[in-house]
Formats: sequence, structure tokens, C-alpha cells
Amino acid sequence: MSNKPHRRHHGDFTWEEVPVLAYKQDGTAPFRDVTRQVLFEDADLGCQLRYFEVAPGGHSTLERHQHVHAVMIVRGAGRAMVGNQVMSVELNDLVHVPALSWHQFRADADAPLGFLCMVNAERDRPQLPDAIALAQLRAQPEVEAFIRV
Ligand code: MN
Repeated sequence: MSNKPHRRHHGDFTWEEVPVLAYKQDGTAPFRDVTRQVLFEDADLGCQLRYFEVAPGGHSTLERHQHVHAVMIVRGAGRAMVGNQVMSVELNDLVHVPALSWHQFRADADAPLGFLCMVNAERDRPQLPDAIALAQLRAQPEVEAFIRV
């Protein structure tokens, strides 16, 4: 994308000339009702700032990877799992996802969950849980109740 100095917000969490993309374009990972927009991308910056929106009742992929996420909730409400912790998240909350931590975001049934997510521009591919990892996650009742795969 070009780096023009100003992109106007349309008022609905879309921005001038920023395409609203399918969350995982390759279709290899399970998720439901998530869109992705790349807001900033500049080789000199070394990171990307994206906006994700999970529709009411939807969820992101349960995954982990070496790269870190810095997340700020900017719309709606929901819950997140990071590592073995499940937390409710609301407007302006910050969520830090450390390297190799399993994580998933879910929107509440009656609200979208929109968040900014900063990541390294160059990053490893997400890993999905295998049967062993899933069994370890499911050994914790709160995690078992939360995750969607
Ligand atoms: Mn991730």
C-alpha cells in the first residue's frame, strides 16, 4: 500500500483506500467471521499495524507463533485467551501476546470485537495446536470452555 500522509476514517472502522480483507486468505486455519485491514505498513518501520474485527459470536484462530502481538481493543467487547488465561476485554484495554503463547479472541454474542494489532513485518507462520497441545489446553476447564477449534 502507498503511504499517503492522511487516510480519512469512514466512521465505521473502515478507512480511505484500506481494503477490508478476509482474515486468513489461504483458508487453512479455523476461524469465524473475522476481517483484517492493514493500516500501516512501511519497510522503514519494521512492523505493521492492523485492524481486526470479529463479528458478534465469531472468533479468531487458536494459534501460537514466535512473533509477539501488541493489541488494543477499540470496538465492542469480548474475551481473549493468552497462554492459559481467559480474560474479558473491553474498550481501550491492552492485550500482550508473548512469543509462543496460545491465543484466541472471541467477540461477545451481541457485540463485535475490534482491535488494533501490531506485529513485526517479518514474522513466522502461525502454528495450530496438534492433538497433544489441544489435550494440554483442554486439561484446564476454563480454557476448555473457551476455545473454538
Ligand atoms: Mn496470532
